Amino acid sequence: MEERSFSDIAYERFLSEEKLMGSRCKGCGALFVPPRPICIKCHSSEMEWVEMKGRGELRAFTCISVVPPSMMEEGYGRDNPYCSGVVELEEGPRVVARIVEVDTNKPEEIKVRMPLAAKFLHRGEGEQARTFLAFKPL
Ligand SMILES: [Zn+2]
Repeated sequence: MEERSFSDIAYERFLSEEKLMGSRCKGCGALFVPPRPICIKCHSSEMEWVEMKGRGELRAFTCISVVPPSMMEEGYGRDNPYCSGVVELEEGPRVVARIVEVDTNKPEEIKVRMPLAAKFLHRGEGEQARTFLAFKPL
């Protein structure tokens, strides 16, 4: 795999390629998603990229109806809250991501521990293009 520094920019570039990548410490094996350049456990800077399978379980979530303008443009708002969750990946790390394809008007139907799969949301074009990590029910 091509060398990329362990930065948010590289992480987002991988997301745009629909890859969920983390960094793994060659010293102690600790795994970080998003990647860190230096291990917080053993302080090693010997890291390698690892691709996550993109499967995980919902650990916590919140449905948000007061949304920033960028989310309003996507149709979210008081009548259509969006869901933000903490997902524990099969590989262990926890990531915060948008939870999609759930009924946010019925949050009681969104279950902690439900299995999820990564989904990549491509937004904007050209210079404005960004990819957001989301998860949907399996
Ligand atoms: Zn380490």
